[in-house]
Amino acid sequence: MHSGNSSKLLFTPGPLTTSDTVKGAMLRDLGSLDSDFLATVRSVRTRLLELGPYPPEEYECILMQGSGTYTVESVISSAVPRNGKLLVLVNGAYGRRIAQIARVHGIDYDVLEVTENVKLTPGIAAEYLARASGYTHVAVVHCETTSGILNQVEEIGRVVHGTGASYIVDAMSSFGAVPIDMASAHIDFLISSANKCIEGVPGFGFILANRRSLHACKGNARTLSLDIYDQWAEMEADGHFRFTPPIQTILAFEQALNELDEEGGVCGRGERYRKNHKALCRGMKALGFEIYLGEEDQSFIITSFRYPTIPAFNFPTFYERLWKLGYAIYPGKLSHESCFRIGSIGRITTAEIEALLAAIQRVLGEMGADWVSEKREVTTPQLG
Ligand SMILES: *Cc1c(COP(=O)(O)O)cnc(C)c1O
Repeated sequence: MHSGNSSKLLFTPGPLTTSDTVKGAMLRDLGSLDSDFLATVRSVRTRLLELGPYPPEEYECILMQGSGTYTVESVISSAVPRNGKLLVLVNGAYGRRIAQIARVHGIDYDVLEVTENVKLTPGIAAEYLARASGYTHVAVVHCETTSGILNQVEEIGRVVHGTGASYIVDAMSSFGAVPIDMASAHIDFLISSANKCIEGVPGFGFILANRRSLHACKGNARTLSLDIYDQWAEMEADGHFRFTPPIQTILAFEQALNELDEEGGVCGRGERYRKNHKALCRGMKALGFEIYLGEEDQSFIITSFRYPTIPAFNFPTFYERLWKLGYAIYPGKLSHESCFRIGSIGRITTAEIEALLAAIQRVLGEMGADWVSEKREVTTPQLG
């Protein structure tokens, strides 16, 4: 399934392990005006809407060059008008990044922040919004990849709609594996990127936008290249990107969409990730690790594990040794706790999860983490 002498298995929040066929789709030269390429762009935009499905009478798909953050920045800096005001709901680094984008662009904004292990709920949003007014836009992250927590974006959307504000959702790390109903959640802008749950390679992000809300962006943009209205208008007019497109990334993405379909779409993909996540949590608990979040708040996308408290454990060594064995995990990003993260997404199955668990057990043994073997006798992990 995976090629490459030096390829690692990536247990990260993206870029992820991709299939050989996705990587192979990139082995072509095409010009940005090539009719084959333009057909691919058209097809990718249509197929992203079909994933919802988000009816094309009401929704538009915009592709934007760059990483996911560029796409978030394109929406924030194009959607909020000069006299608008943004509320950002925050429980992690990606929510804070949205606020940082607003600050950089001189956009008037407030932050409603809860701690990183607290899920954002409609109750939290409603309580705050009942005492505040004047927000034209509200933004929130769906799966806050900082911890792995899954915020209640659909329910929050109904609260936001009640205030009349537009609603922006960063669904970067969940889109393609967790169903999101844009209509009932009143989401105006839904954002994700090529290299997360769709399992493409990095290079662009995309926005699914309510058509009326997109039209309202005309003339708002604070930058030339990240103007989502102009990007959309030009693509509608002649099918082209305004500036050089990431051609090979888009070719790979089309193949990734084929493989998503073959797997049974969003639900099929979500099922595989859920199984990965379950196998990971079961195995890690058996090795003595503690999960940072409560099970009811935890997504199946990425999981934060607390550092063991024994002195023999040292994260840089742990990380380095796993990496040498061919397994890339991810450092923590929490403000107040020492955790590391392991992703369940990308072209991996429970077989790769079991292999990772066996490698973790081996590395802990090499590091002299004795408590691990004590725990193991009690709980008998199922390692492959
Ligand atoms: C990955 C991710 C992003 C974008 O990160 P980039 O490094 O710019 O691709 C934004 N928000 C969330 C929640 C993410 O997981």
